[in-house]
Amino acid sequence: MPVADYAQYCEMLDRARKGGFAYPAINVTSLTTANAVLKGLADSKSDGIIQVSTGGGAFASGSGVKDMALGATSIAEHVHRAAARYPIYVALHTDHCQADKLATFVMPLLEQTERRRAAGQPNLFNGHMFDGSALPLKDNLEIAVKLLERCKQNEVILEIEVGVVGGEEDGVKASAAAKLYTTPEDTLEVARRFREVPGARYLLAATFGNVHGVYKPGHVKLRPSILKDCQDAAVAAFGEAARFHFVFHGGSGSELSDIHEALDAGVVKMNIDTDMQYTFTRAIADHCFRNYDGVLRVDGEVGNKKIYDPRSYMTIAETAMAARVVRATADLRSAGTTMAQ
Ligand SMILES: [Zn+2]
Repeated sequence: MPVADYAQYCEMLDRARKGGFAYPAINVTSLTTANAVLKGLADSKSDGIIQVSTGGGAFASGSGVKDMALGATSIAEHVHRAAARYPIYVALHTDHCQADKLATFVMPLLEQTERRRAAGQPNLFNGHMFDGSALPLKDNLEIAVKLLERCKQNEVILEIEVGVVGGEEDGVKASAAAKLYTTPEDTLEVARRFREVPGARYLLAATFGNVHGVYKPGHVKLRPSILKDCQDAAVAAFGEAARFHFVFHGGSGSELSDIHEALDAGVVKMNIDTDMQYTFTRAIADHCFRNYDGVLRVDGEVGNKKIYDPRSYMTIAETAMAARVVRATADLRSAGTTMAQ
């Protein structure tokens, strides 16, 4: 199917919250990883989300260019073309964008969407994330409300974050004193401020102990019950229309019971990056270790062109990542739910 339009993406999110499931939102950095997500979603009959981070965009633009908006555009344009060949819906997102990167990442991408809309073409991205979680809440929401207005005009969904996801992603590291647990007071303030832009759709990454990356069991104390407390407070204050659509960041390596409790509390999008990175690299490492004398020209031999052709191991890695996407849709209960059937 073509990339979901605004109405279809809104319907996806509403169906997920009503049905107690979430879409995997998988970070990609290349055509191969984007193709892996599309295949995995199609194999599991799940709709889903493909997203690009600032670092992923810079990488995709090439080491001689390092323009994060350019690389994100290339990936999005590929997905617009390729998604039409798969029997599922996919939405395109960008990931964490701190305030100091808005001018060189989210804004140029939004401007492209504005130009595309003026020319009668679909939006480049369905959603953008602004991550102002390192700022005081008031400053975070001041910027977010302005962005929300601009997004609403263009039928783009804004994702914001309150509280801080621990760990490190894309070279941005959370401080040791970071506020890893959001409070209902914080999210109530989000609901209150965003009422200034009636009818705008947004996603909220509220933290409940989440940490980017994977840690050994016991290191991370997730408290998904916080999300339910936040929902209850918002609905009590502003009615059912204020119920949040939550995003689960830093979910790689989480216990299934914690994931399911988060889904029941209204998580509709779960970002998965680290587990996919590992799956992709593990497949390539396996190929190289098993075929040492084919990948390399050992002791005067010539290696094996079939084995060192990057397509051989990139296809193996793509297949492995697609299988990991299938597993994610099972964990998130989105398998078999595509709107395309
Ligand atoms: Zn994140």
